[in-house]
Amino acid sequence: MASSLEAFKAIVGAPGVRGKKVSAMSKDGSTAFIRSIISTEQESKEAFYVLDLGAVEALFDKWNRNLPMVQPFYAVKCNPNPAFLGALAALGSSFDCASKVEIESVLSLGVSPDRIIFANPCKAESHIKYAASVGVNLTTFDSKEELDKIKKWHPKCALLIRVKGPDDGSARCPLGAKFGALPEEVAPLLQAAQALRLTVTGVSFHIGSGAMQFIAYREAIAAAKLAFETAARLGMPEMHVLNIGGGFTAGSQFDEAASTVKAALQDYFPNEPGVITMAEPGRFSAESAFTLATNVIGKRVRGDIREYWINDGIYGSMNCILFDHATITCMPLAGSSNGCDPTCKAARSYDSTVFGPTCDALDTVLKGYRLPELDVDDWLVFPNMGAYTAAAGSNFNGFNTSGILTYLAYSN
Ligand SMILES: *Cc1c(COP(=O)(O)O)cnc(C)c1O
Repeated sequence: MASSLEAFKAIVGAPGVRGKKVSAMSKDGSTAFIRSIISTEQESKEAFYVLDLGAVEALFDKWNRNLPMVQPFYAVKCNPNPAFLGALAALGSSFDCASKVEIESVLSLGVSPDRIIFANPCKAESHIKYAASVGVNLTTFDSKEELDKIKKWHPKCALLIRVKGPDDGSARCPLGAKFGALPEEVAPLLQAAQALRLTVTGVSFHIGSGAMQFIAYREAIAAAKLAFETAARLGMPEMHVLNIGGGFTAGSQFDEAASTVKAALQDYFPNEPGVITMAEPGRFSAESAFTLATNVIGKRVRGDIREYWINDGIYGSMNCILFDHATITCMPLAGSSNGCDPTCKAARSYDSTVFGPTCDALDTVLKGYRLPELDVDDWLVFPNMGAYTAAAGSNFNGFNTSGILTYLAYSN
């Protein structure tokens, strides 16, 4: 994008955003914005998300500044919010889809199928057939059985062999136990593809989501290089796509991850201008762009401990505590009980437990968390709730996660 104004115009005009209200917000103004929504739009006091489209743009710029040679394919599973997908599409992102429905939702935003990778190494035959019918022509595999299905339903599809590099064992969600060809499986799989006259154009990997040890990128890029060499040795057409997957977080660690990737690309793929490098960031793009506001619907005082019930929980957005091993934080927003100091900065704090709304005791969001004294109808605001939250929430007990509204803001 040439300028910020141009990017802004593209975002507010994007499918998924167009026609919806986008409110201006100052960079540190999310508290004020959330309070304005609470007072003007939220009579029913339902939980709601705020999506900061300005943050989406800033993250996209950050990616392009640090890794200009790596084309991002946003991993839709991380957060499929249509306005978010539309904004990313308008900024020029491509997409990683793992299912028929994810492909449908990206295509419905007007994204052309050549900007989609079907990056699920094990796909249902009906989904492969669908990908062929809409012209999604790039996918991954890590087994002979997958090659047979692709041969049957989508023989013209370009393929990336998903390899298992040495995983980042300390990643929040390691993926290596489920996906990726072992080093000794690479040559036989490439030969199987060759025998079926399928086109393997490159290599993909994923070092694990929420990675901490960025050396894993280097080791995986080295493993990818070996697979490129194996293909050449087998007399296959030269590979030219390197897909470095996800695993990135957006904080200060991103600079370190990006430099590790850049150095490894230089060491293992120097002077190879023909090689296209892509990535599948999920968490990086989504995590900090969404803030969740929840209403305190119940309270109990037990000695010095304060217990609160809020209207989202483990079976909803906070499933990330279980499935994504997330540590979440929140800020109080006192509407009724402390109007003159709504963020309660000056107030005395108590060891507090925060429960979700369902009738399961597992549905506990925070324990031993210091909070000021809150009352029913106050709010708790959770920042950084964009990654693997609403996307994996359920309908349990009638609390419908997918029904949570998202208000759009644009900070600058
Ligand atoms: C989940 C997933 C991603 C996104 O991973 P993040 O760690 O969120 O960046 C990318 N690629 C594939 C194949 C995935 O399964």
